[in-house]
Amino acid sequence: MPAAPAPFAVSVLDLSRRPGDAREFELDVPVGERIGNFVIGIPAGSTIEIDGRMESLHDGILVTATARGELVGECVRCLTEVTQPLQVEFQELFAYTPDEAFDYLVQHDSIDLEQVVLDSVVPALPFQPVCTAECTGLCVECGVRLLDDPGHAHEPQIDPRWAALSQLAGEAGPETPQKTDTES
Ligand SMILES: [Zn+2]
Ligand SMILES: [Zn+2]
Repeated sequence: MPAAPAPFAVSVLDLSRRPGDAREFELDVPVGERIGNFVIGIPAGSTIEIDGRMESLHDGILVTATARGELVGECVRCLTEVTQPLQVEFQELFAYTPDEAFDYLVQHDSIDLEQVVLDSVVPALPFQPVCTAECTGLCVECGVRLLDDPGHAHEPQIDPRWAALSQLAGEAGPETPQKTDTES
């Protein structure tokens, strides 16, 4: 079975079983499939930059790193495109042998950071991204973005056809009892 491509894999051949050794590493990973929630995410085709440090310990390789990407999404208030940087930090031990205490393993002298990065990025995504904190959304009547047109207002008006209908309804409809205010 051919190995699946593992863009997040880093060789640890030089550190493996050498407790005390450590080195810095850098990895730029092209994003194959968008990573995100339904309002914002790191789009396919962009790059996640990972840099950090790997230390050889007795049990495995300890990775301490930062991952950076550019989020693209839409403002939940006005629906304009929002881009913002995302930076997450993570630390994980990749064990040499399966162990309940550790979720990840060194395999074939390499470590695959994909799941670790996903597990750090996804919870860090904003659920309510906004273009600016001041965004007041869209006009409910005409859909104009209120930040672009702050003095925006509409005359209260009723479509003439509806005005005619409501007049008819008023004439033909059941009489609504008038509430009289006698108790105060
Ligand atoms: Zn907005
Ligand atoms: Zn409007």
